[in-house]
Amino acid sequence: MNITLRPNNLDAFWMPYTANRSFKASPRLLARAEGVFYYTPEGREVLDGTAGLWCVNAGHGRREIAEAIKAQADVMDFAPTFQMGHPIAFEAAARLAEFTPDGLDRIFFTNSGSESADTALKIALAYHRARGEGQRVRLVGRERGYHGCGFGGMSVGGIVANRRQFGAQLPFVDHLPHTHLPEKNRFARGEPEHGAHLADALEDLVKLHGDTIAAVIVEPVAGSTGVLVPPKGYLRRLRELCTRHGILLIFDEVITGFSRLGAGFAAEHFGVLPDIITMAKGLTNAAVPMGAVAVTREVYETVLEGSPGGIEFFHGYTYSGHPLAAAAAIASIRIHQEEDLAGRVRDLAPYWQEAAHSLRGAPFVTDIRDCGLIAGVELEPVKDRPTERGMRVLQRCFDDGLLVRVTGDIVALSPPLTIERRHVDRIFDTLDRALRKEAA
Ligand code: PMP
Repeated sequence: MNITLRPNNLDAFWMPYTANRSFKASPRLLARAEGVFYYTPEGREVLDGTAGLWCVNAGHGRREIAEAIKAQADVMDFAPTFQMGHPIAFEAAARLAEFTPDGLDRIFFTNSGSESADTALKIALAYHRARGEGQRVRLVGRERGYHGCGFGGMSVGGIVANRRQFGAQLPFVDHLPHTHLPEKNRFARGEPEHGAHLADALEDLVKLHGDTIAAVIVEPVAGSTGVLVPPKGYLRRLRELCTRHGILLIFDEVITGFSRLGAGFAAEHFGVLPDIITMAKGLTNAAVPMGAVAVTREVYETVLEGSPGGIEFFHGYTYSGHPLAAAAAIASIRIHQEEDLAGRVRDLAPYWQEAAHSLRGAPFVTDIRDCGLIAGVELEPVKDRPTERGMRVLQRCFDDGLLVRVTGDIVALSPPLTIERRHVDRIFDTLDRALRKEAA
């Protein structure tokens, strides 16, 4: 549909995570998308350096996905999955179970990453109660983690600004330290050397709280807070500690899932298997909203067997397994498999890494981090005015035909996995130009 913007019709939409007043004073609009490009309403081409919001992993405008959604809409728009079922939701779960790491093959559908995080936390609580360990109610997140904006995800999340405005949080939550050690790991390529010991903070929490911890939730690579790549050995250590102390380990793979790091999921890339994986975004290539939680058979069966009969898990969304989303997920998973997007990432990642690190020495660049097809370029903030430089660089890039995402003064890049080397060059050349203009 071609909608033209009427004067004043910016008013009604209360935009999420956006400075509404300054945005509406000078909006940046995207009206069309194809392949690795967006187009503004005036038809100006903008290279998508962020796969939308880390989500359009297979590139924009995939006909296979659009046709699958249309075909399903023609057959059946909606049917409940409470006390009823429809074939395509079961089919989507089965296909997804084949795509998730071996051992995590029971799937709960949600509509977003936020819902996936809250669902995973509730599964963890239900699991322990089912095992007669109802005292395990504490949830552990990590500083600088992002798990969406539901109450659970917000509380275990480690972004203070996202909590400050609201005051009330979930009780019984602790945070591990984040893994960003700039003094030791600055300009590290891939996984940094130093910091595996930071996982040991979990041991301290166990000493403090005994057997009351239910779960630890972390992003394998923290995305939204500026691409924080786990130090070598860190995730393995976290896994060992969780196993030793009877704590469930949840990987939030909303960003790292769906081939982004060069494997279906980060769990496979890092060779560390959690008990629960949350996902969203790339699941449907973002064509329609959908999220999911994959759990081990042991977790699933424990929750089911712990229930005396009837409903085993008092949780679910009207749109869990929505037919149109299920159709999109099946088509999207097929693209990942048939086009071997993970293999593509593995091939391109060295070139991507080299290109990203070529910005070392560009004005204001204080650190560069990368993993798979993600990169974070950290900039020196304007004194006493954090985020100002980041937003100015975003605007300069946009004016110069590149979409980047900034989080504070860190530029985050996560293009569609279908990009080619010439697009990689264009991303970092444009960013370099923006930084030089910023310095001029
Ligand atoms: N977890 C992670 C790791 C994310 O990056 C995000 C979104 N950027 C979410 C959860 C929340 O997802 P959603 O916005 O779909 O609720």
